[in-house]
Amino acid sequence: MTTAYTLAENLSAANEYLARFRSEPLQHLIGGKSAASDPSETFLNTSPIDGSKLGDVVAGNADDVAAAAEAAAEAFEQWSATPGTERKRILHQVADLIAERARQIALLECVDTGQTMRFMSAAALRGAANFRFFADQAPAAADGQSMMAQHHVNYTTRQPLGPIGVITPWNTPFMLSTWKIAPALAAGCTVVHKPAEWSPLTAHLLAETALEAGLPPGVLNVVHGMGENAGRALTEHPAIKAVAFVGESSTGSLIQAQSAPTLKRLHLELGGKNPVVVFDDADLDRALDAVTFMIYSLNGERCTSSSRVLVQESIYDEFTARIAERMQAIPVGHPLDPKSVIGPLIHECHRDKVLGYREIANAEGATVLEGTPFADASPSGNWVTPMLFTHADKSMQIAREEIFGPVLTALRFSDEADAVAVANDTEYGLAGYIWTSDVGRAHRVANALDVGMVWINSENVRHLPAPFGGMKASGIGRDGGDWSFDFYMETKNIAVALDTHSVPNLADER
Ligand code: NAD
Repeated sequence: MTTAYTLAENLSAANEYLARFRSEPLQHLIGGKSAASDPSETFLNTSPIDGSKLGDVVAGNADDVAAAAEAAAEAFEQWSATPGTERKRILHQVADLIAERARQIALLECVDTGQTMRFMSAAALRGAANFRFFADQAPAAADGQSMMAQHHVNYTTRQPLGPIGVITPWNTPFMLSTWKIAPALAAGCTVVHKPAEWSPLTAHLLAETALEAGLPPGVLNVVHGMGENAGRALTEHPAIKAVAFVGESSTGSLIQAQSAPTLKRLHLELGGKNPVVVFDDADLDRALDAVTFMIYSLNGERCTSSSRVLVQESIYDEFTARIAERMQAIPVGHPLDPKSVIGPLIHECHRDKVLGYREIANAEGATVLEGTPFADASPSGNWVTPMLFTHADKSMQIAREEIFGPVLTALRFSDEADAVAVANDTEYGLAGYIWTSDVGRAHRVANALDVGMVWINSENVRHLPAPFGGMKASGIGRDGGDWSFDFYMETKNIAVALDTHSVPNLADER
């Protein structure tokens, strides 16, 4: 769709859509209305491309969160009682309007995050698809199981949990937030969304679009602000029954502690240092495409990126040389240029963190290879070139820490047992990728990896009915398909007697 537009056309359209955000501070959306308890408290949203001002955003505090939580609690009474077929109808309308605005959403996502149009043009449509998928499940979301016992019929039913806090990061904010918000709404829950402070624009568009599509006011609320203020208040508010969080592992543990006093249900989707294991019998052309795609697309700012490539020693030199050649040909450029693959990173702090790993790699004795820089990069933007670290060892920081940029660390292994040992030697456990033509080995390694998701001879291809989530420091819980409804709903068991059993009569015990 969007690749049909030139950079100049995209720039002009993006500026038009940005005008409203530049002219006045972006507000929260609470109970269907723009709101802020203290409109003078704002933070600056800047462009990753050149550091220019994209606008001011109101900085939410505990009062804003309380207002949003109350609006969500009030709306819950009606929304949870709305028939599933009606929720389905409304959520399809939301999807229709997202699809209609896909270009606007994609353009704003690119200028707000630095992600390139090549990938973001599909992001809004994938968001719409998420709404459609979960909308279709809404009518049967409450259905349970029946279990016959000798004297009772037991049956289960599910009911929506209540207002949900959704806290999201900045990497692909629109699409990612729909994975949480769409199933929560389909289940009959209401939502208070706290988007990442570095990428506030499309969260606002989503809530605004949903409202215009017919979602009742208060069902989806947005509070902007810093994690330690607005985010923290959301995790502490007693009306919020669960928090669906996506972000760093260290923030996940803070959220566990903050929400403990109010005993919230938590789904935590956290960091990763995902291995892609390439055996010497693999289809190496396909493996090469997948390895480079999974680390150098989406600016490498992707939780399931294959950030460690483990290559069997017999093919290590040749395969890493092919990755290097491929990496050096990747176009880095303006995010709105349809030819660009890698754009600027989200924020100068994040750029400095990613670039810092170049020094660490050098100090640790790895070989650092770099891609081709963007000739027109503004010095005030957050530009990086892709990198490949070869001759790395599993003990090095570059092999253990999540870098979250277009940076790949290449390790070698000798045999199957060594591959599993190196792959599992990390605190993380989100995803793993295996490339081999040996079917038995593929399954053995898949079972041995301590990760929540494995792709065999494939890059990450998300299937919405399948579970998504990680082990170890990569998270707690799963969503996707019916796993999402299990999270956003309470399962209740109801036992009905067939009037055939003897009810104990305590007086008989005398
Ligand atoms: P982050 O943890 O810094 O922030 C995420 C969100 O949490 C933001 O909205 C932030 O404002 C909020 N927050 C921060 N402190 C908080 C607190 N004390 N209480 C409540 N909320 C708080 O993460 P980030 O830097 O925005 O995102 C990058 C991270 O997200 C990476 O580690 C990446 O792997 C992870 N991620 C994971 C998945 C997954 O599915 N596992 C998907 C995408 C991103």
